[in-house]
Order: sequence, then C-alpha cells, then structure tokens
Amino acid sequence: TDRIVLSGVSKTFTTKQGATTAALDDVNLSVGAGEIFGLIGRSGAGKSTLLRMINALERPTSGTVEVDGVDLAGVTGDRLRRLRHGIGMVFQQFNLMNSRTVYGNIAVPLQLAGMKEAQISARVSELLDFVGLGDKAFVKPRQLSGGQKQRVGIARAIANRPSILLSDEATSALDPQTTGDIVDLLRSVNEEFGITIVVVTHEMDVVSRLADRVAILSAGRVVETGEIQQILSRPAHPVTAGLVESYTRTALTEAEKTQLRGEFTDHRISVTVDDTLVGTPVLSRLARAHAVDFSIIQGGVARVKNHPYGQLSLALYGEDRAVEAFVAELGAQAEVIRW
Ligand code: ADP
Repeated sequence: TDRIVLSGVSKTFTTKQGATTAALDDVNLSVGAGEIFGLIGRSGAGKSTLLRMINALERPTSGTVEVDGVDLAGVTGDRLRRLRHGIGMVFQQFNLMNSRTVYGNIAVPLQLAGMKEAQISARVSELLDFVGLGDKAFVKPRQLSGGQKQRVGIARAIANRPSILLSDEATSALDPQTTGDIVDLLRSVNEEFGITIVVVTHEMDVVSRLADRVAILSAGRVVETGEIQQILSRPAHPVTAGLVESYTRTALTEAEKTQLRGEFTDHRISVTVDDTLVGTPVLSRLARAHAVDFSIIQGGVARVKNHPYGQLSLALYGEDRAVEAFVAELGAQAEVIRW
C-alpha cells in the first residue's frame, strides 16, 4: 500500500516583483508503507519543496498530495495538526532549541500532543536509550557534537511515534564517519518501528546506503525513479548518469573493497583529524616510532577532499602489537575508527 502519493504536482513561487520560479513541474511519485525512499538531486532541484509538500508546509500550485489516502488540499486546523503529529522531520542544521536541555527538546512534541509529564519522562528516556544518548538528558545542545545533535533531532522527530519521517539533508553538516552512524540510526528507525522514511540529499553515498528506491530530481522534474542498485548500475537519464559518475569517481569500487578487505582485514582504519594532522609529518613520526608503515588509501582521501574535517583511511603494515600501539597513540590525538 502507498503511504504518500503525489500526482501531477507543480509548484510555482512568485516574488513580489512578479518573477516566477517553477520549483516543481508535474511530479508523480508514490512511496510505499515501510519504505525508505531517497530524493536526490543537485541544489535547487526542488527536493526541499517536494518534502515540505508531504506535511503541507507547502501547498501545490496544481496537482494533489495524498498521505494515507487523504488529499492534503482539504486538510486544515485540528486535522492538519493531527496529520503533522504523524509525520516527523529532521533537518540539516538540527533545529534544536539551545535554551532547552536534550530532554526538553525531545519533550516538545510530546507536550504539544498533550501527554502527561510522567509519561513524557518515560518516553524520553526510552528515546534517549534508542539513539544512544542515555547519559545526555540534562545537557544543553551546545555541549554536543554534530552527530549527537542529530541523534537528538531524530529522537524528537520520532517521539510521537509517527508513521512517516522526513529527512532534509540530515547528514550534510556531518563528517563522513558520523554520516555513516546517522545512516545506521535512520535504518534502525525504519526497521524497529516500521516508519516510512523519505530522505532528501545531494549525496549519492547516503541514498546508496539507505534507500530502497530513489527518485532523481532535476529542475523540478522527476527524471528517473527506480531501485537504488538499478540506478547505480544502469542510470537511464543523463542527469542520473552525471550524479552516479561523480559518486563512483570518488568511491572505492567493489573490487577494490574486496581486495582491501582481503589484504588488510584488521589493519585498516579511518582517522578523523583536524587540519594539523592531515599533513602527514605527524603520522610519519608516529609510525616510525612504532615501526609501522602506512599508506593512505586513495578513495578515502578523494572522498573527503572538500570536507571541512580531515579524514584519512589508512592501511597499516606491521606486527599486530605495533599496529595496536600506533592506533592507541593516534587515538589520543584523533578520532580513530576501525573498519
Ligand atoms: P533543493 O532542496 O533541491 O535545493 P528547493 O526545493 O529548495 O531545492 O528549491 C527549488 C527552487 O525553488 C529553487 O530555485 C528555489 O530558489 C525556489 N524556491 C524554494 N522555495 C522558495 C520560496 N519560498 N520562494 C521563492 N522561491 C523558492
């Protein structure tokens, strides 16, 4: 059964000066119950506008949007409020209230839904455990890392047990490793609670790890829809081919991954470091001190080139104990993630 259906949806924005932008142009798509659906496209393609139509934050200029069989055009007032309770949303910039604690942030939708304080308390601690922040209830958002903030954002979004979760570039402000963690968390939201998820992103990497099906949006039009694996291996539209090409250029191929796994099983790590450590002198000095050789795996570097954090994937050569000691010392200066 389809949970979300858009039929012939167009949206034109008109400025006060009378200039018009066609943000969406005759969009048709449907998202099945329990599905993770990806919406991918370059900046300005209309992804956010489409997402905002699903909880009626935007209304179409023409066409219809149906959620659970209900045409949103006629939904207002209390019905609209109830409909929105059933749809959670997460944002690129997290949109947390800085004056409230983590607990306070997650409690907001529950308070709005009129839940009693005792129940709120039980629900929030359940949610905190689920997102792995059991010990952060009374911390303010500014004391959290980006990844932790997004965990709070996700907990808040699913607090009312929605049937749909909308994710608007939820990982775009995060480093690659944290992106992976949030992708995993969204996946378990889907698996454990059966929540239908619509993921908007410009990152092919994210949808390739998360989505069952995707739609590619370009200049307000859906140019292609399909299963993610089929899109990646046989993109039909030139726009899709362009997105897939720029993704595969930086990603490791399956063959490379297999090869690397075979060769380096335990001796392959990812390091998230600040700029001072990206230049290899520090790494070289440490490696020499521990009698370890390393090489920087190409794919890992290319993938993070335009990222504000440095992230390196290293292959390490040496005796197990030497590698352990090297990783331990590196870990004191940088975040080390084992593959
Ligand atoms: P994306 O999320 O893919 O980056 P958007 O949906 O944000 O794309 O925007 C699609 C197009 O619609 C862009 O050209 C954008 O400038 C325009 N647009 C979006 N929202 C508004 C608005 N409220 N007023 C005017 N133009 C808008």
